Amino acid sequence: MNAGVEEDRRQKAEGSILNAPGLFDNPTAAYVHIPFCRRRCFYCDFPISVVGDRNRGETSGAIGQYVDKLCQEIITTPKHDKRLNSVFFGGGTPSLLSVAQLERILHTLDRHLGIASTAEISMEIDPGTFDRAHLQGYCNAAINRVSLGVQAFQADLLLACGRTHTPHDIYAAVELIHQVNLPNFSLDLISGLPNLTLEQWQDSLQQAIALAPAHISVYDLTIEPGTAFGRRYTPGDRPLPSDDLTADMYRLAQRTLTSAGYDHYEISNYAKPGFQCRHNRVYWENRPYYGFGMGAASYVAGQRFTRPRKRQEYFEWLDELITANGAIDCPITPSDEVLLDTLMLGLRLKEGLSLSQLTEQFGDDKVAQVLAIARPYIQSGWVEINQSNEPDTRLRLTDPEGFLFSNVVLTALFNQFLE
Ligand code: SF4
Repeated sequence: MNAGVEEDRRQKAEGSILNAPGLFDNPTAAYVHIPFCRRRCFYCDFPISVVGDRNRGETSGAIGQYVDKLCQEIITTPKHDKRLNSVFFGGGTPSLLSVAQLERILHTLDRHLGIASTAEISMEIDPGTFDRAHLQGYCNAAINRVSLGVQAFQADLLLACGRTHTPHDIYAAVELIHQVNLPNFSLDLISGLPNLTLEQWQDSLQQAIALAPAHISVYDLTIEPGTAFGRRYTPGDRPLPSDDLTADMYRLAQRTLTSAGYDHYEISNYAKPGFQCRHNRVYWENRPYYGFGMGAASYVAGQRFTRPRKRQEYFEWLDELITANGAIDCPITPSDEVLLDTLMLGLRLKEGLSLSQLTEQFGDDKVAQVLAIARPYIQSGWVEINQSNEPDTRLRLTDPEGFLFSNVVLTALFNQFLE
């Protein structure tokens, strides 16, 4: 975006957004989407392309072409004066990239936007999609955090949700992570899978803890329309676990992981001290970030923008972006939406939201409205105000019950501010 357009947008925004510190800060985080997977998992509706079991970055023309386009998008994006403190390669399956492709993307980011020497550079990897040479190469290229898509430790469950890996592959992948001496690694698990029992879930949690990751993410399965699971299953009906059972799985994860020394720092995320995901905190704190690649979202200069989810459409959009010199034409997020985003994202964090910061950003009236909405949930024990000795008064969800029923609280806020 050129300076004149940016100034014009800033002036328009100043008329509609109350004193919003941070909104126009330059991003220091970048998400890079790598949209290729061997097969599509049965529950997945992410923007991806399937390359089959034998192809990967070294052999797939589609991946090579995509990396070319991705680098074009990066160099077309207007530069800002801050270096990146975090880069996150998500997917898809970024571990299908060749080492040379990953190096090229990182080099392009560094040359064009600058990457701080202390940046957290994360990569999602899937068991069975990389060997030691790949992982060592990724680390040599500056990857210093990986997130391994485990999902479950039971062979029948993995097969039933269309994953390409086995429990053996999980152990082999973690062994490689240890061999390349990468202590900052995370494991992803999914609760609420069809036919998953509480005993199996407990077993998955214990096996995850035994692998000693620094971080564990626990997601509850969502049945998305248009997926194989969406055609096969109805939420709440067998063989999906009942709502009560999925709630018990959430409580069990909270008890088991916190007892093992993991801090439940976000609704779905647990970390050993010092190992929270720096990149994802940018989202939860509603701070700006770049997004690159098909289907990627960005939040720059008050504009939230999601790129096209299909490869050809993304390429066509990129041609338009190049013609427009990097200017993305989309509206500045209106004030009430910024407030709602701040609430919905910030309440995901254990520490919740600072009421003085909310007041500074959105004014007394809005904060009074938020507190009025929160009042019945404070009485029901799902929301609390400053239960510890922090100097700043904070509004937050309780753990685990407030987190578990966050949808109820967030829907009430949504109805208040987006009517
Ligand atoms: S590996 Fe991840 S992104 Fe790829 S199909 Fe499976 S769930 Fe979707």
